[in-house]
Amino acid sequence: MRKETFVTKEQLDAIVQEYPTPFHLYDEKGIRANAQAVKDAFAWNPGYKEYFAVKATPNPFLIKILHEYGCGCDCSSMAELVLSDACEIRGEDIMFSSNETPAEEFVKAAELGAIINLDDFTHIDFLEQTLGYIPETISLRYNPGGVYEISNGIMDNPGDAKYGLTKAQLFEGYKILKEKGAKRFGLHSFLVSNTVTNDYYPALARTLFNLVVEIKEELGIEISFINLSGGVGIAYKPDQVPNDIAAIGAGVHQVYDEILVPAGLGDVAIYTEMGRFMMGPYGCLVTKAIHEKHTYKEYIGVDACAANLMRPAMYGAYHHITVMGKENEPCEHMYDVVGALCENNDKFAVDRMLPKIDKGDLLVIHDTGAHGFAMGYNYNGRLWSSEILLQEDGTPKLIRRAQTIADYYATFDCFDEFKGKLQ
Ligand SMILES: *Cc1c(COP(=O)(O)O)cnc(C)c1O
Repeated sequence: MRKETFVTKEQLDAIVQEYPTPFHLYDEKGIRANAQAVKDAFAWNPGYKEYFAVKATPNPFLIKILHEYGCGCDCSSMAELVLSDACEIRGEDIMFSSNETPAEEFVKAAELGAIINLDDFTHIDFLEQTLGYIPETISLRYNPGGVYEISNGIMDNPGDAKYGLTKAQLFEGYKILKEKGAKRFGLHSFLVSNTVTNDYYPALARTLFNLVVEIKEELGIEISFINLSGGVGIAYKPDQVPNDIAAIGAGVHQVYDEILVPAGLGDVAIYTEMGRFMMGPYGCLVTKAIHEKHTYKEYIGVDACAANLMRPAMYGAYHHITVMGKENEPCEHMYDVVGALCENNDKFAVDRMLPKIDKGDLLVIHDTGAHGFAMGYNYNGRLWSSEILLQEDGTPKLIRRAQTIADYYATFDCFDEFKGKLQ
């Protein structure tokens, strides 16, 4: 089955004249249209905000595009806070949803005025000791435990996940936070990853809305915002039906009207922290076939490797591959498409039926816009690629240069015996 690329062969041939492969390419038009669709889907909720999960695609150029549509930043580390600050996204436009958080990161988050979302009961004391106070606005992350299943069977295992507070801790937590001076409370939960169904957010909303009603009845505390977090997935495989964000927004709206409004909680703001859904389909890894190998299997060697995209190696994740210019040729060849790491899981595809690939062909590896470049690593001294934005007018703009050997060895630069030698 076929999956369309957002870039044409002619555009790509021109781009590789200027920028060598491999690189991650992003689709400005697609990013903008999707960000607008997300905004529209939740426009029924006046307080709605999407906090883009920075870890998915930590590029300031892309984050600034999303900010034009009202998106804030969901950060969980010092580097992500620094990036958000550099994009001039501060204050309650930052959600600090971290876990196992070092003290200095809480300090930085507070300095920037971020909303702090605590992952653990003990972090209440830790935060108070670190800052000397409890912020007026504060959020808690809930983990219901057990197995979380929705109507179509998609599920995950929150009981095995390191995140969040138990229900008892959550209730106790809000009570303590209120005693310590907190005034505006949030509830956060992230239960299932990469859900390709319009039912996940509405199902999660039902769980959290019921909980918020219970919190109000039992503790007299009104939750001000509910953060549905991430987990809205994308159709990596060509036969999957992509999520419809308008239907998802309408589904959450319906549950909101059914549960929160009658409980007198009709002014609760809905927040999301999507990463994958905001950016995943709007990025691809462009790589060139440089070798073919015929042994017990047929291999195509490309100039990218798992250092540029780890998901296939790490999770066995499927990423569709288009051989540019051969979209209409029959997929009659079974290949493993591999990178150069001395690591046998460095394969972008295993036993994949593709058109005959020749050396020099450009391959587009789809849906790398989230958790793609970001998970890159430097094993074997393989370097990070550049990132390029395909602008709305069809021209490319470099938005991160490729790493150099000097960058890679920069941490030896402070030693006299190696200064200037490693580049
Ligand atoms: C990773 C993460 C997200 C984003 O998840 P996606 O599945 O990419 O939407 C949101 N919130 C938190 C706390 C995360 O760790």
